[in-house]
Amino acid sequence: MHSLRDLLQDAQQTGKAIGHFNISDLVLLKAVFAAARELNVPVLVGLSEGEREFVGARPIAAFVRSLREEFDYPIFLNADHTHSLAKGVEAAKAGFDSIVFDMSALPFDQNVRETKQAVEALKAINPAMLVEGEIGDIGSGSEIHDQAPDLSKGLSTPEQAKQFVESTGVDILAPAVGNMHGMLRSMVRGETKKRLDIERIAGIKQAARILLTLHGGSGTDDEDLRKAIAAGINIVHINTELRVAWRRGLEQGLAKQPDEVVPYKILPSAVDAVKQVVSSRLKLFNEERHFAQGN
Ligand SMILES: [Zn+2]
Repeated sequence: MHSLRDLLQDAQQTGKAIGHFNISDLVLLKAVFAAARELNVPVLVGLSEGEREFVGARPIAAFVRSLREEFDYPIFLNADHTHSLAKGVEAAKAGFDSIVFDMSALPFDQNVRETKQAVEALKAINPAMLVEGEIGDIGSGSEIHDQAPDLSKGLSTPEQAKQFVESTGVDILAPAVGNMHGMLRSMVRGETKKRLDIERIAGIKQAARILLTLHGGSGTDDEDLRKAIAAGINIVHINTELRVAWRRGLEQGLAKQPDEVVPYKILPSAVDAVKQVVSSRLKLFNEERHFAQGN
């Protein structure tokens, strides 16, 4: 079995990205795993602090590990947006493969200091754990937003990225490059799309020479995602699109069978709805690109 680090390096070489999908229940996990297996591509499932709170860090780590072992399949587990070292240590001890240690709300120097400390503390628990740091502002909440926040001041620069990576020792960097958590209503309706600053991504890649994650991928223009991956994005996070599909699928399952009370007869509608979204995103992230990336 290849490690997550190896698979990310492979993705880097072949111009593909690994899909990261947030889960907070068995419906979402089943859907993500089924879609990935059908396409036979590696996959990351992630849980934010809130999502971990709901399912439990240790139980979900045991569940994902058991899938990985039973099916000899490259499915990995990420502790998404972790805002304290205590929560990071909890995830490391539970056996998470990677962590997003997110101090991006702090002033830059403080973000550097705290992230560096976290890298040291988490690697002391599990040297193989990949630590991702975050700079810039991409908003919060993988939900449906009424208004677009003004994030233009929080875009990351190549200089910042290089300094952050060199001073903290992170394995992966999440920059702000036009991406945003959550979706606007117009995006849910498919009327508007998020657009990315591709030149900024390329500049950050060249300066920082590190694995890059794109957060807030839901609702992003397909062509921009392709270009972003070509410019050096190695992991793409999708959450809100799954949550929208989960709710719609669940509502359909309930509406179709108003008298049904058996969960495993109602929930497959939700699994199918989520699986379709995951599958179409994974296909895009894993398209053959006829060139090798730099770095
Ligand atoms: Zn995120």
